[in-house]
Amino acid sequence: DALANKIAAGEVVERPASVVKELIENSIDANSTSIKVEVEEAGLQKIKITDNGDGMSEDDCEKAFLRHATSKIKSETDLFHVKTLGFRGEALASIAAVSKLTVKTSRGENAATLISMEGGSIINRAKSDARKGSEIVVEDLFFNTPARLKYMKTIHTELGHITDLLNRLALSHPGIRFEATHNGKSLFKTTGSGDLLQVVGNVYGMSVAKKMLPIQRDTLDFSIEGFIAKPEVTRASRNYISTIINGRYIKSIPLSQAIIRGYHTLLPIGRLPVVVLSITMDPILVDVNVHPTKLEVRFSKDKELFAAIEETIRTKFRQASL
Ligand code: ADP
Ligand code: MG
Repeated sequence: DALANKIAAGEVVERPASVVKELIENSIDANSTSIKVEVEEAGLQKIKITDNGDGMSEDDCEKAFLRHATSKIKSETDLFHVKTLGFRGEALASIAAVSKLTVKTSRGENAATLISMEGGSIINRAKSDARKGSEIVVEDLFFNTPARLKYMKTIHTELGHITDLLNRLALSHPGIRFEATHNGKSLFKTTGSGDLLQVVGNVYGMSVAKKMLPIQRDTLDFSIEGFIAKPEVTRASRNYISTIINGRYIKSIPLSQAIIRGYHTLLPIGRLPVVVLSITMDPILVDVNVHPTKLEVRFSKDKELFAAIEETIRTKFRQASL
């Protein structure tokens, strides 16, 4: 019901960046190869995501806004083998509960379904041209939760959260073409060629991409690959450390610390790396069902993983300095 959705929204939709994250993850789960992100006033005014994914049938679209409506998990065992980014089935319902949302979606064969909602209630249904994919527009975020709105920081800060997120989503999906704008101005574009180093160039600039060292290491349980910038490109913040597990961008303090320990074998404490590490492992070894926003994870072989990462980076820098 409406109240439960509003309560869940408090957990899932912390700020405009959370909306961008959930919507893009849905586009990715729907097999999109091209995703366009248009944001106005750091997302407080408008967030529009257009994808070329599978789209939804009229029936599925109506259901998608019900809480715990997910097409992605069918059994309890699925929960331990999560391959999609979403699986809780609460993002769309939560976002719709605290905004004015319009979805236009089509599976390609039939006319597109168009549904408009306000504060979680459907206010309009219509049909539109069939174009395979989905377009979701979220306007006036938190218009009906003034307490939440009051806690929004400046446009600058909220946009910072969005850019940070977009960078990492692009880095975790080099095979998807991303295009992002803020108030009509381009933030970045990627080509979807699948080349991670090219995406590093698109989001951090070519001068950074040119100074990246490749990382590649396979252990019995993990495959670790990515890029780390040469010591002359250091940063003062951890924002340039991106860790991706099985294609999912995650935040893990111990994982970042392992990277930093490997990095500091040669470098002064306080300087931090620009690094993108993509780690692949059996999904059974990682639990993503820890927090509603799914940023945190737990590893069953954490010590082995952290040791392998630290060692790989240390070795890379030793080699590079020879
Ligand atoms: P979850 O992603 O956890 O399943 P959501 O509330 O984010 O839950 O989405 C609900 C459902 O709506 C999804 O399971 C999916 O079937 C459908 N859906 C949402 N966004 C899209 C999209 N961009 N393209 C196709 N289907 C979508
Ligand atoms: Mg989702």
